[in-house]
Amino acid sequence: MLTLMQLPYEYNALEPVISKQTMTFHHDKHHQAYVNTANELLEGTDYEEKECPKCLLKDIDNITDDEDKKQKLINNLGGVLNHNIFWKTMTPGGSSEPVGDLKEAIDKKFGSFEEFKKEFETAGKGQFGSGWAWLVLNDDELEVISTKNQDNPILEGKQVLLGNDVWEHAYYLDYQNARPKYLEEWWKLVNWDVVEDRYQEGGSCK
Ligand code: MN
Repeated sequence: MLTLMQLPYEYNALEPVISKQTMTFHHDKHHQAYVNTANELLEGTDYEEKECPKCLLKDIDNITDDEDKKQKLINNLGGVLNHNIFWKTMTPGGSSEPVGDLKEAIDKKFGSFEEFKKEFETAGKGQFGSGWAWLVLNDDELEVISTKNQDNPILEGKQVLLGNDVWEHAYYLDYQNARPKYLEEWWKLVNWDVVEDRYQEGGSCK
């Protein structure tokens, strides 16, 4: 059974970049709904006791042959996993720059941290409708991608280092339709120590 991850900080801790109101709805309503629906879908299967959304997503083809149910599971397990990653990626006040080996890898791949940020923001802006922008490891290679809905990059065999939620529920109360502004402000919250740890471990574990 999946459970709703507790936020590692207070609801108002990410202000002014993300308001308490957004955090409350996003975590208590949206994230909770993904947990509840995923649990309902898994009920009665051999997988109902499992607690790791990433493991379940990797095993998706074994859980059910029903294509409709499979898609619903991808949506909702992804919804659980993506938000777990998202909350852990942020910290009040952030940490302004990547560190260590990750910094070197970013500079090597994108030219500079600034160039990387630009590419990431472009991916987030360019994602039509709901989805996510990601920094992933594709084998050992850094890559910026976007995905639709709640698709997690693990579905393409890619490991997440960093992800930003570009669903309207993530920013509309604070930025209305200005997704580019949200993407730009969001860097102030990123905990690069966590991202560096994921890089060392070959991707986010949950
Ligand atoms: Mn969301």
